[in-house]
Amino acid sequence: MRSLVCAWLFPFAGRCPGPGPVGGVAHGLHEARAALVLLFACLLLVAGLARAAVAVSDVDPLAAGAPGADCPSIPLSGEQPDIASLPGLCFVQDDARALGPADLLEGRQARERRDADQLVFTHTRAAYWVYVPLRNTEAVQRSWYLQLDYPLLDEVDFWVYDLGRPTQPRPRPVLLDVQRMGDQRPFLARPVRHRLFLLPLHFAPYQTLGVVLRVHSSGAINIPLSLHTAESAIEGTQDHSLAQGMFMGAMLLLALFNITLFLRLRLPQPFFNAAYIVCVGLFLTSMSGLSYQYLWPWSPWLANVSVPLTEVLAILSLLLFTRHFLDIVPQQWPRQIALIRLLFGLGVVLLLASLWLPYALMIKVDTVYAMLSMLFMFCVGVARLRQGERAARWYVVSWLVFYAGYLFYGLAAFGYIPGFMAQERWMQIALGSQIFLLTYAEVMQLRDLLDKALRIESTARSSLQHEVQRRTEDLRATMQALEQANQQLRVLTLHDPLTGLLNRRGLDESLEQLLRQLGRAHHALVLVVFDIDHFKHVNDQFGHDMGDVVLKWVAEVLGNLVRRKSDVLARFGGEEFVVLLPATAQADAVALIQRVLAHARHSPVVLPDGRQLSITLSAGLAAWAVGDTAQTLFKRADECLYRAKDAGRDRLVAA
Ligand code: GH3
Ligand code: MG
Ligand code: MG
Repeated sequence: MRSLVCAWLFPFAGRCPGPGPVGGVAHGLHEARAALVLLFACLLLVAGLARAAVAVSDVDPLAAGAPGADCPSIPLSGEQPDIASLPGLCFVQDDARALGPADLLEGRQARERRDADQLVFTHTRAAYWVYVPLRNTEAVQRSWYLQLDYPLLDEVDFWVYDLGRPTQPRPRPVLLDVQRMGDQRPFLARPVRHRLFLLPLHFAPYQTLGVVLRVHSSGAINIPLSLHTAESAIEGTQDHSLAQGMFMGAMLLLALFNITLFLRLRLPQPFFNAAYIVCVGLFLTSMSGLSYQYLWPWSPWLANVSVPLTEVLAILSLLLFTRHFLDIVPQQWPRQIALIRLLFGLGVVLLLASLWLPYALMIKVDTVYAMLSMLFMFCVGVARLRQGERAARWYVVSWLVFYAGYLFYGLAAFGYIPGFMAQERWMQIALGSQIFLLTYAEVMQLRDLLDKALRIESTARSSLQHEVQRRTEDLRATMQALEQANQQLRVLTLHDPLTGLLNRRGLDESLEQLLRQLGRAHHALVLVVFDIDHFKHVNDQFGHDMGDVVLKWVAEVLGNLVRRKSDVLARFGGEEFVVLLPATAQADAVALIQRVLAHARHSPVVLPDGRQLSITLSAGLAAWAVGDTAQTLFKRADECLYRAKDAGRDRLVAA
């Protein structure tokens, strides 16, 4: 049944042991070169189809062969351990599927002869009978294995007859063994559990065995019979297992890698890539018969539907991978999205149909569907690449590899690349390379994403730095302004706005500070309190404004005469002033204050309107003594001031 895949893909091939479409060797991105490769592949396909048409007409058994042709036995000896393709086999096409093994054995039907590798039949519903007489030419017991190298056959039945020895032929053949195999029969019923059909034959000395083989399958039929000793069968199996194991191991690793990417990054494309890898792996193992041997030996049904199912599932996974990997979003790509949806829906329908409809029909439809979908995905990749999508580069390369591999597969199927296993090998190389490149494309896309994220981060970091710097400078400026404002505020709160001298609060602070220093150093400090005499009269006579002018004038006089840096001048109350004279002896202070009083007495105040006015000052003076506080010192000076007033004003009284 499944052999039809092969006949469909490569009808021109003599034999067809391996899997479906595809394959690979990449050249790069050059589109012209890609187009050439594709063109060549198409030409090859067309040439193949033409040749297949000729080959099919060749196959008509009625046109060839002579009735009752002789079927000589094939001599076997220890010197010739293997026969790769059994020559000159008699066969019968049983259109009505009504014959039995005896018809073959007794030559009742027209038998024609053909080498085993020419036993290829397509587009047929008939059963095929082959007669293989084998003769042990030596006087020893020997065992051989008759091998049918094509695993995709529905029913493969063997009858083994003892024909006696050349010297003592049996009057009637004796039936020794019947084996019924094929992928519609339980796998475990096979005499040798092998993906191919192996029939053990045990020869007595000089014995001739006649093997009658009947093959029926709903797909193309290949009957490549070969003969092996146990040793060579084991060796061939080993080589094949090694190649398959390496290939499948690599696929498994790539699938695990993609699953890990998906689990860690939660991106859809690695998930669909992993699904694609698993489906391709199952497709290939189904085609080579390994799935039936190892995965579902209990299910002939699965053995038959697995090829179309895995083929369609692989395409569905790849469509989803492509949609996410190339970021085909509906807003920008309405037509492509519509096509993807159409192909996806069609795939789902085919998937269900493959479960119910005949295999021979579905495998054809599924393969056409797969080819159209692949062409579409390649075109979308090229379109995205032209748009400048970096990720599409390796995606397109993976498709070029795919088509190049398909080309080599075709060459192998034609026989231009020698070796029976060449087709399977090229298929594996092509598909393996495509899958590897798809994963590589994915990694490159992640790298681009990482680069982008790093660029964004570094831009953000430097702009953040700028912002922080700017804010810090702003803050510093604000702090400075605040400090200045504080300073101004302090000046305002400690000074008298009219005269600019310290006010009472300023004086208190200065006095406290001087007293603290005195407590440590025991220096001298003299405190003098001034009061303008009869100031009420000034106000009454000249007005308050002129009173203020007089106050300012007094402050000026004090400033001019009390000049030491350490001296403190303050306007204590309305028209009262205080002078602190640190590190000044009382006598010196008295002299200084006398000068101030004298100046006030002798220098008239000139008012803004030109009028002149004389004022006098009274002053009380106290020198700091040990144990004095600000209050006691001030009180003594104030008392002296009162005494000065009482004594007639315009004088200084010292404590
Ligand atoms: P005395 O010789 O006894 O000191 O007589 P006096 O008139 O100066 O009396 P006193 O010292 O009690 O004077 C207080 C007067 O000073 C009352 C008020 O009219 C005046 N005065 C107080 N503060 C101000 C001020 O800021 N501006 C003006 N122009 N006058 C003030
Ligand atoms: Mg006063
Ligand atoms: Mg006064």
